[in-house]
Amino acid sequence: MLQALGARTREVRVPADLDDLDALVIPGGESTTMTLGIAREGLAEPLRAFAAQGTPILGSCAGLIMLDRAHLDVMDIRAERNAFGRQIRSFEADVPMRGIDGPPLRGIFIRAPWIAEHGPEVEILAQVDGHPVAARQGRLLAVAFHAELGQDERLHRLFLDSLP
Ligand code: GLN
Repeated sequence: MLQALGARTREVRVPADLDDLDALVIPGGESTTMTLGIAREGLAEPLRAFAAQGTPILGSCAGLIMLDRAHLDVMDIRAERNAFGRQIRSFEADVPMRGIDGPPLRGIFIRAPWIAEHGPEVEILAQVDGHPVAARQGRLLAVAFHAELGQDERLHRLFLDSLP
């Protein structure tokens, strides 16, 4: 999705991969596995430093969980994992989102979290059934759904537009 929008991308697996990046995406997946990988590679502190510099980060689904207080603790949110239910409760929904003009985004929610609590610095951008599923804090953008699986590039464009 980012390449389609003209961004040059690379995977981040070890701390040196963060050098000179303009922005970072922490994708969906499995937050337990990511936590283990981050610990194994010594990535937690470099990631916190990266966020502290104000570099834009997009966290999607498990990536939202990684940004929360209980994980990397860079965003003042508490994510509730698997909040909508187990795999069988995965779903798609139209998600009107602040900052996204036009029709609602089509959100793909795969064992998705929601934001159960958030601090005053956090702006909630979208909700599903009254639960926050998208939020911004400074240059951090967190969404509970997978925006990269559909054809709609507006969320990634919004993210790229936040780059200084
Ligand atoms: N349920 C996963 C977790 O807790 C997140 C799922 C996803 O990223 N699609 O990490």
